[in-house]
Amino acid sequence: MSLRSCLSPSRILSRPLPSHLQIQAPFAVVRPRLLHTRTAFRPRASPYFALAAAAFALSPFSTSSLTMAPIEVNGGAAADKPSRHNKVVIIGSGPAGHTAAIYLARANLNPVMFEGMLANGFAAGGQLTTTTDVENFPGFPEGIRGTEMMDLFRAQSIRFGTTIHTETISKIDLSARPFKFWREGAEQEEPETAETVILATGASARRLNLPGEETYWQSGISACAVCDGAVPIFRKKPLAVIGGGDSACEEGMYLTKYASHVYVVVRRDVLRASKVMAKRLLAHPKVTVLWNSEPVEAKGDGDLLTSITLRDTKSGETRDLPVNGLFYAIGHEPATSLVRGQIKTDEDGYIVTEPGTSITSVKGVFAAGDVQDKKYRQAITSAGTGCVAALEAERLLAEEETYEE
Ligand code: FAD
Ligand code: NAP
Repeated sequence: MSLRSCLSPSRILSRPLPSHLQIQAPFAVVRPRLLHTRTAFRPRASPYFALAAAAFALSPFSTSSLTMAPIEVNGGAAADKPSRHNKVVIIGSGPAGHTAAIYLARANLNPVMFEGMLANGFAAGGQLTTTTDVENFPGFPEGIRGTEMMDLFRAQSIRFGTTIHTETISKIDLSARPFKFWREGAEQEEPETAETVILATGASARRLNLPGEETYWQSGISACAVCDGAVPIFRKKPLAVIGGGDSACEEGMYLTKYASHVYVVVRRDVLRASKVMAKRLLAHPKVTVLWNSEPVEAKGDGDLLTSITLRDTKSGETRDLPVNGLFYAIGHEPATSLVRGQIKTDEDGYIVTEPGTSITSVKGVFAAGDVQDKKYRQAITSAGTGCVAALEAERLLAEEETYEE
């Protein structure tokens, strides 16, 4: 979030989806009130809005000429009739998936990526399609729009020969190699197969769905202090963090660099965080922990957040706390429903990888990005693990080829 973008009331409406996913909509045919021209329809990048757009596209009210372009890239006719067997398939299209694709394509392994069709609530390109400016990815000294950055990742994957399908993988069988998988809507058909699979399906921050949350999401409310904390609207302002775990402590401490004061709102009378993190937080002069408290509403001036309403979890009393920022640190949900029960996950559902590698409990399956990382969850760390996954998949395939010879 930048000051420029944050202060503009039209900011959210002008936030585009990645260019390849903008619906080329002759909407005017059926919805003249929405658009009068055949220009690209640029919905706000909220997953909810995007879902609504997709629902519209699939509804009986849409016209047959409505298109979403392009669905398949780089394969041309081959992509229309895809090869049923692949050396390596990448599921997911955030920084992890695309970095893996770039490395694999450059190694001539003809990677096939399923970038998802609003899988896990995100447009293809992943979580960064829901933000405004990314300011901490090296190589972009002026920052870059999240959607633009993911367009560039995608263009680079394609440049080296990745085949990309704008579809979601809804079912996978990891019980034997080659692995079998099915696209959404084709679960009854013969499966496609892959020698190796890279899981890069990402994660999503848990939200509270408070009244006012949708209005002030990314206009004062965020789920990533490291990403958004330095934005000018938070400078020298009172801020609140919700949660009592290590993330809440870490985010609260981080925000003290910018805030006039940080309130950490904890629903119980104890922190879940590790002792060392809790001690550091409680000792900080700029931090006040509000025990037995939970937020029940986010309020603002229609453009930016100005306060939250807190309820005392013991007495039930409510009061308003003036804050200009509200940061959720109540955990994340890794997108692992596809493989749960087939691969080792931890108690929070994250895929377990051998330390320092992308190797999972299933030989030939590699995991990269937020789906296996509950600690750092950054674009650059996701890209890094995507690279590791590609190199490890390449090594395994090379070893097996040598063995077969
Ligand atoms: P994701 O980005 O989560 O992408 C996964 C993709 O896989 C999604 O598109 C999803 O639809 C797709 N997918 C899921 N399941 C399937 C399936 N079954 N079939 C096909 N496709 C599937 N990090 C930073 O470093 N700097 C920032 O400034 C920053 N800002 C952020 C702002 C916001 C609002 C958010 C939410 C996050 C931000 N992050 C930032 C964190 C960063 O976005 C993530 O760490 C990063 O995107 C994780 O990348 P990933 O490749 O693991 O997966
Ligand atoms: P977490 O440990 O699950 O903590 C989530 C916190 O949010 C808990 O305090 C929980 O309260 C609270 N919470 C959950 N739902 C809530 C709701 N609806 N309303 C209000 N509060 C709610 O998640 P995390 O802090 O993101 O940590 C995840 C994992 O990553 C942990 O294993 C952690 O150790 C690790 N981590 C480590 C570091 C580090 O070592 N530097 C940094 C970050 C994360 P309750 O306690 O009442 O359930």
